[in-house]
Amino acid sequence: MAKKQLLLAIVALTSLALSAHSKPLNIVYIMSDDHATNAISAYGSHLTSVFKTPNIDRLAAEGMRMDRTYCVNAICTPSRASILTGQYGHINGVKTLADAIPPDAVNVAALLQAGGYETALIGKWHLKTEPSGFDYWKVGPGQGKYHNPTFIEIGTSYGPRAQGETVEGYYTDLITDYALEWLQNRPSDKPFALFLHHKAPHGKWEPAERHLEFLEDVEIPEPETLWEDFSHRSPASRNFGTSISHRMPDRRNMIDDVTSDRWPTEQVDMTGMTETEKTKAAYQKYLKDYLRCVKAVDENIGRVLDYLDETGLTENTLVVYTSDQGMFLGEHDYFDKRWIFEEAFRMPFIARLPGRIAAGSSTNSLCANIDFAPTLLDAADLPIPNTMQGKSFFSTLETRQQPAEWRESVYYRYWMHLNAHYIPAHFGVRTDRYKLIFFYGLALDSTGTIDKQTPADWELYDLQEDPQEVNNVYGEPEYLDISQMLKTELQRLQEKYKDSHDAYPDLQKVIAEHWK
Ligand code: CA
Repeated sequence: MAKKQLLLAIVALTSLALSAHSKPLNIVYIMSDDHATNAISAYGSHLTSVFKTPNIDRLAAEGMRMDRTYCVNAICTPSRASILTGQYGHINGVKTLADAIPPDAVNVAALLQAGGYETALIGKWHLKTEPSGFDYWKVGPGQGKYHNPTFIEIGTSYGPRAQGETVEGYYTDLITDYALEWLQNRPSDKPFALFLHHKAPHGKWEPAERHLEFLEDVEIPEPETLWEDFSHRSPASRNFGTSISHRMPDRRNMIDDVTSDRWPTEQVDMTGMTETEKTKAAYQKYLKDYLRCVKAVDENIGRVLDYLDETGLTENTLVVYTSDQGMFLGEHDYFDKRWIFEEAFRMPFIARLPGRIAAGSSTNSLCANIDFAPTLLDAADLPIPNTMQGKSFFSTLETRQQPAEWRESVYYRYWMHLNAHYIPAHFGVRTDRYKLIFFYGLALDSTGTIDKQTPADWELYDLQEDPQEVNNVYGEPEYLDISQMLKTELQRLQEKYKDSHDAYPDLQKVIAEHWK
């Protein structure tokens, strides 16, 4: 074949391949609230023998499960803001639960909308500013209520005094009803991006009526670290956080929660129990109510997947399942999130796109929630603004190979010093194998914090030798070189992401005292 003919043949084949992808993808982005990977059977954990998520597992079996996806601040509002903007909280302005996102912040939904997508947000928003970038939105104000919730809809006033409409039913079911109605009635001449945000399984845990007896006679396996000996920890983290047990007598704990009338389902009677028995009973009660809330999320994901099948949308729709961050389900004797430790820091992320993402695949590529917005824009074949700090991992989903220039670490920062769950402010870095944490213990200028200094210190975990993070090796001679290497990486990341300490002389002083 002459050279020119060969060239023409290649051009023809290339355009054929392109035309197969030329129809814009639809996007269904499903995000729950506080859903730990340990409570998803596709990820597997000590809970899998008693608790399964068949519909999320179906998504994983038909798509890719990402095993090392992390949030850059493990708390609801800041993580949601980072997902929307592709930026760290010190850039987008949302560092704590008290911060509002500026209305002009870069926004993945607005960019999809400007790129020709019909966009909708249904469910939990939890950002203080009115949703923007959506052709349609219907959200529960603030945290929202599980039973007979109130919803505010686009076109009505948004804000703390919004009246909304109270609807009979269960939040998880209702938002799925609304999402399916929206899909049914959307303009059919445009691609769509649906953001379906569950409130569940965020506390307080109120299962649907149909799940109140679920797991009733089941003994939920305990994580080994429920009984962790905290002597390996530094004084900066040892006696902080909220526990299942009475380990920290003056702090909020699950034993007191489940025996009080603050608990929304039947209280536990602990009369005559030893402390060990009380811890076990509190763990059982917490896990059962939490998993009952997850059960409804999983069922409703099944409804969405069935709808996509029935309407012929499955083939051309990227479906994502994730959560705004993880959750401690008794690991390290904790509940809640916020810490950089794996159970809170790690996010589930499962993506399905038949024919383009290999069924039943998984990856260990390090990704972060700031990468989500660029990835969705990339999937939609739209440009990614350079103000976004994350990078698209769409090619990793499609090829199972991470791009040549890809992150080798994730930078984390928790700002909301001591408020609500008594967790000290910290920053840290996670690489493939190690995690270095610096607890600086200061509120700085952050809103919604408690202005009381706590001890500063480092912790280092070798995740290959110690995946459960029960052996802090900071200061051990064989890890000195590793510590130095990670400190250099931490500084590099703070510069890269423009997380400067210039405005914080108190922080500079603490760092100078501890940065050896
Ligand atoms: Ca959350």
